[in-house]
Amino acid sequence: MLARREVFPHVIEMNYQARQRLGCSVYLIHDAGEWLLIDIGFQETVDEIIDMIRQMDFSLASCKYLIATHADVDHIQGLKRAKELLPNAVTVGHPECQQLLATSDRIVTYAEIAAQGISIDLPPIKIDKTINEGDSLKVGSLTLDVWNTPGHTSSQLAFRCGKLLFSGDNIFRDGCVGNIDAHHGSDIPAFIKSLERIRDSDVTWLLPSHGPIFRKNNAHLQKTIDRLSEYQHMADFGTCAVDWPLLDEWEDELVRGFDPEKA
Ligand SMILES: [Zn+2]
Repeated sequence: MLARREVFPHVIEMNYQARQRLGCSVYLIHDAGEWLLIDIGFQETVDEIIDMIRQMDFSLASCKYLIATHADVDHIQGLKRAKELLPNAVTVGHPECQQLLATSDRIVTYAEIAAQGISIDLPPIKIDKTINEGDSLKVGSLTLDVWNTPGHTSSQLAFRCGKLLFSGDNIFRDGCVGNIDAHHGSDIPAFIKSLERIRDSDVTWLLPSHGPIFRKNNAHLQKTIDRLSEYQHMADFGTCAVDWPLLDEWEDELVRGFDPEKA
């Protein structure tokens, strides 16, 4: 028997539970004997995580949902194995996440980053049921409201439960955000809207998919929003930028011609 280390009532996070870093955040939410998991992480840690859950005296038959916050390999690679160990659980995710996993898309999920020599096994994963903005999931008497918060990727979901927001890869404690990458379907204007939504919400705590849990702080969120607002106009972000003002300046200068004396 393992003592449950709840981070909030009804909420256990498996890295905090293990007191060591296992991978992405894996949240277990439980009430009245039912429970669910938000993300499972890489396949290699699934058995260890499920074994801890068993030792905390949760019935493996009572896992109601296995949630994918989005389709990135570091969040979902273990879903197939988890479903084997938790056969009653319904796998849920955004429709685009369902599609990416059904076709084992290796590019958008980051299983394959050929230019960096990254090639990770991605088993075909069936998302049983799609969820999207406005849906809700029940576990015991608790309700999780489903938010679609595109930006990092269009299938990014977040889950609100009272004053807690399981915030996915939207923002981390140091103000960083989930990777912005054209091949990942990242969208900076959408990302800004998602962050503004989080800023304007009345949640108190952000429980991200990577790194420590932290209190929502609007100044902190605003700093990140301002940074992403600049990204929209920077060549650094390639096709994820909406424009590049330097090209307009150049057009004006081309009309006048280049003069080393004035450059
Ligand atoms: Zn992530």
